[in-house]
Amino acid sequence: MPFVVTDACIRCLYTNCVEVCPVDCFFCGEVMLVISPDKCIDCGACAPQCPVSAIVPDTDPLADKWLPINAEFSATWPSITHKREHPPDADAYRDQPSKFERYFSSAPDAQEKF
Ligand code: SF4
Ligand code: SF4
Repeated sequence: MPFVVTDACIRCLYTNCVEVCPVDCFFCGEVMLVISPDKCIDCGACAPQCPVSAIVPDTDPLADKWLPINAEFSATWPSITHKREHPPDADAYRDQPSKFERYFSSAPDAQEKF
């Protein structure tokens, strides 16, 4: 029963979540993070750290769309285990609707090591 990163993370990337994960579940794309459902131990530590409430348990209706996306891209994107500076325009995207349709990218993040 893993936790799942959803729409609100896109172009936010505050990365508060990664430092509290005890098992390094987070993987970094160009515009968002995802959680590996195979690694997540369902501890719940990350969800309260997210300033935009992007992380939900897989029992949340939002997770139906996002669990397959987290599973697919956690297998190919690089691991991220430390907090870093968020994009300077992150707050401008914070409350925008339909961020997946408008801004999602399947590209891995170039700053993290594979
Ligand atoms: S804290 Fe939330 S918005 Fe920021 S990277 Fe983590 S999941 Fe994404
Ligand atoms: S619920 Fe726990 S194990 Fe799963 S991603 Fe969050 S901090 Fe990591």
